[in-house]
Amino acid sequence: QAKQGGRDTSRFFTPQMNADALVRLELEMALRDALDNEEFVLHYQPKVHLGTGRVVGVEALLRWQRPGHGLVSPADFIPVLEECGLMVRAGDWVIASVCRQIRLWRASGIGDVQVAVNIAQRQFIEGDLEAEIARVLAGNDIPAHLLELELTESSLMANTAHTVAVLQGLRRRGLQISVDDFGTGYSSLAYLRRFPVDKLKIDIAFIRDITSRPDDAAITLAIIGLAHSLKLEVIAEGVETAAQLAFLQGHGCDQIQGYYFSRPLPLAALEVLLREGHALPPVTAMATAADA
Ligand code: C2E
Ligand code: MG
Ligand code: MG
Ligand code: MG
Repeated sequence: QAKQGGRDTSRFFTPQMNADALVRLELEMALRDALDNEEFVLHYQPKVHLGTGRVVGVEALLRWQRPGHGLVSPADFIPVLEECGLMVRAGDWVIASVCRQIRLWRASGIGDVQVAVNIAQRQFIEGDLEAEIARVLAGNDIPAHLLELELTESSLMANTAHTVAVLQGLRRRGLQISVDDFGTGYSSLAYLRRFPVDKLKIDIAFIRDITSRPDDAAITLAIIGLAHSLKLEVIAEGVETAAQLAFLQGHGCDQIQGYYFSRPLPLAALEVLLREGHALPPVTAMATAADA
């Protein structure tokens, strides 16, 4: 049915439609075909532990190789997937692809790699996320702790009772749960205590000017303190400079992710990085300088 829509598009177009609506309609129809035509691909961005400087995992980030358009960024198509009812199918594809990749890495010289997957709110509401994940983990014969789920603060806050129940089930199976873009939603701290989560990801918005804006530095320190007093791990997103890294290292942040260490990489480039065992240079000296 989607295939037919892709071929016979003319009957949808009427003179009254403006150019934006046409572009949007074309986008929707192209996305319907994208899954069948295997146009989606995953890039992977490393997460680095600041204590050891070592890569402790990667985040899978969805890209769309749209014919005639090059590589399309998720910001431009994830909202459309959500609106036209394709998010669960696309999300299932991401989970299946990641678990397959984890299995292949275990079978190769690379070994165990923990991979984080971004989960859209829709995936919690529609479908049975826990059953789907359990099925794919078993199908690939991989342990649950190698899969981490990232949920944004705002998707956690919607539909809370159901979300808490699903997360509890997943966590009981051994999956890691992270709160993405933390600080940009408006979860009350009381709510945070109720959610079965393991890690907070400080949003890039606070990290960007961390060394020049005292407010952003203060918020970041508050999030690090909050995470640790709730016995959660904390990771900073969007670290691009040595100065940002030194600040975070000096103030006890557990992990970082960002262009400073590595951009999101296509599979082959990530495998080179993992095989060569790239690590951050020792940062103790920098951290001392930042505190002085
Ligand atoms: P996110 O999960 O918060 O991912 C972080 C985004 O920041 C990524 O953008 C990443 O490429 C970018 N980034 C990483 N380090 C730096 C840095 O140092 N500087 C800057 N300026 N940016 C950095 P990307 O890949 O375009 O993804 C955007 C968003 O799309 C993600 O935000 C996530 O919310 C969503 N997304 C990506 N893949 C998926 C997916 O498979 N499923 C779902 N539901 N959402 C996804
Ligand atoms: Mg994320
Ligand atoms: Mg984020
Ligand atoms: Mg984001």
